[in-house]
Amino acid sequence: MATSSTFRVSAQAPSVSKPSQTILNFRAYKKRTASSTSSEIPESKRQKRSEEEACRTPPKAGAARITKGRKKSKYVNDPDKPTRLRTTRPVQAKVVSDVWALVLEYLEPAQLLVLKDTSAVFREILTRYSHTWKSVRASAYGDAIPDPIEGLNEFQYSDLREGKGCQSCRNGNTRKTYWAFLRRFCRPCFESKIVKAPEAVKIMDAALPMPHEGLIDCVPSGIMDSWGNFVGCGTAESQYQDTVYLRSDLAAIAAEYQREFANATEEERPERMKEWYAKNCSKVIDRFVFAKKLEAWERDSRHTKAADSALKKKNREDYYTIKAAEMTPPLSKEVLICCSSYKKAIKIAKAPHINSWLSLKPKLEEERIQVEASLKDRQTSGFFVT
Ligand SMILES: [Zn+2]
Repeated sequence: MATSSTFRVSAQAPSVSKPSQTILNFRAYKKRTASSTSSEIPESKRQKRSEEEACRTPPKAGAARITKGRKKSKYVNDPDKPTRLRTTRPVQAKVVSDVWALVLEYLEPAQLLVLKDTSAVFREILTRYSHTWKSVRASAYGDAIPDPIEGLNEFQYSDLREGKGCQSCRNGNTRKTYWAFLRRFCRPCFESKIVKAPEAVKIMDAALPMPHEGLIDCVPSGIMDSWGNFVGCGTAESQYQDTVYLRSDLAAIAAEYQREFANATEEERPERMKEWYAKNCSKVIDRFVFAKKLEAWERDSRHTKAADSALKKKNREDYYTIKAAEMTPPLSKEVLICCSSYKKAIKIAKAPHINSWLSLKPKLEEERIQVEASLKDRQTSGFFVT
């Protein structure tokens, strides 16, 4: 059953200027009383009507408002009827978790991750409704990235893509995800958790007294270059590279292998081993394919972001140059590029806007006096030297 929670939702409807219900009622009353005195009505009827009108009382000021107010409160509290929206009053409505799950699909992936930690209600909803994560991913990236592989749920996938912080030491600034290992580590933690291929073989030999030829192929691996930098998923392709494994992955596969085959008889072992190896090697290949796609997606995202940032900076430069030329007196590009406030402004990767120009303009007016004097001195001294 869906849980529900009460949230205050501000209902902003456009305000419409119209006469109040009280005024309308009063006008209708005046009209009725005026028509009753018309000469076209016979005397007997007129007398009867005037007696009826005398029994009536005109609408009291505020009566319609009070009645309407009472009706509204009943209306809002009735769960079977829709909530009425008022410009003057925030709506208090119970929003069930199913509805929240749909509403949250309109957020960005990173916003969803933040929201998950803001309240227990949202955490519960986002833990239960994996389709919300999937919809948000599809809206943000389309087919640019693959679906998560087996063993990785949508939240974990989103956390690896958008989250930050080392998953070992909790260093808050780490953003590097090693897709080959499905972990996000800071550099020191990563270096402490990996071993190179020769050492990995020794660890397996020490952990397994039984034969285990080819078992290392069932463990996901990555590549390090001779400078100690992580290259990507896969195995070393040259003498200047090393294949590395996570210690925890080695321990896990050794434990599973022992569990599977420690009590197996000599007769049944070859057949079961063949099946087990095929299954685990297939998992490693799937991991490589997945990791390669994610690494490529990250590279493309970085390039796109860098290009977008450069374009925005160039637009700012052009916009401020035009605006500076419109100043009184015009500020030349030669002077403009010497102003420190301008230099700072064009380093910001945001689209130019009139507000940012209005913020920059007074600073330029202040700086230009000194810069123009300095340039003039330089030109003057240069003239005398030559
Ligand atoms: Zn760390």
